[in-house]
Amino acid sequence: MKCSSMKKQFFFVFPFLTFLLLSGCSRERYSWQYRHFQPTQWSETADRVRTKIDTEEKILALTMDACGSKTDSLDEELIDFLIQNKIPATMFITGRWMDKYPEKIDRLASNPLFEIENHGIAHRPASLTGESIYGIEGTKNAAELYDEVMLNADKMEKATGRRPIFYRSGTAYYDEGATQMIEEMGFQSIGFSVLGDKGATYSADEVEKAFLSARPGDIIICHMNHPEKETGKGLMRVLPKLKAQGYRFVLLKDYADKLK
Ligand SMILES: [Zn+2]
Repeated sequence: MKCSSMKKQFFFVFPFLTFLLLSGCSRERYSWQYRHFQPTQWSETADRVRTKIDTEEKILALTMDACGSKTDSLDEELIDFLIQNKIPATMFITGRWMDKYPEKIDRLASNPLFEIENHGIAHRPASLTGESIYGIEGTKNAAELYDEVMLNADKMEKATGRRPIFYRSGTAYYDEGATQMIEEMGFQSIGFSVLGDKGATYSADEVEKAFLSARPGDIIICHMNHPEKETGKGLMRVLPKLKAQGYRFVLLKDYADKLK
């Protein structure tokens, strides 16, 4: 073979092989791509975080987190109430919680009223530089963020038979590099527009007041993992009132292309 033709082949084959090699190792590729990224945002409303459904329709997305702390569990009474009243909910669940309650995840995932989405493998805020919030350490770099999102997506797909399409970080905090990377990984970053129970610390009255402030298209965040708190009591009181006002509850996945 002539030298010039070998050169041509080299220049064609080398980038191709490099691409193949790197695309097979996404974690390494993201580490390389984001190694110098310096975020300027650190919040619940960083760029690309979806906080609402873009609509004038009287619909609301009820989202409930199961974070997987040492002492949390599942508010079964609230789940029964949602089932009895046919109220759909999108549930953001961590790998830690799934490890504790395999039988509960089966029950939730097998009910079409509920959508199971990704709350991270270990409930970490989504940072490329190790930012913290509420004393919880965020992911330190792109590789850790990759694991936080992807290991739980894989785990959920294995446990439920469905791959999640949304990700809400532990604490719902993000930087704008993290949300960019999450989008490139194929997931939308989800926030909220109504703080429904402030980390399960609200009284039932405060929960009710927060929910009654909802407007068309709002994404409401609350928690289903603290039956000992008043979130469930507040929800059971206020959800029928919102329905009586003409609101309908929807799953996020049915509005995936209308989130803003
Ligand atoms: Zn959480």
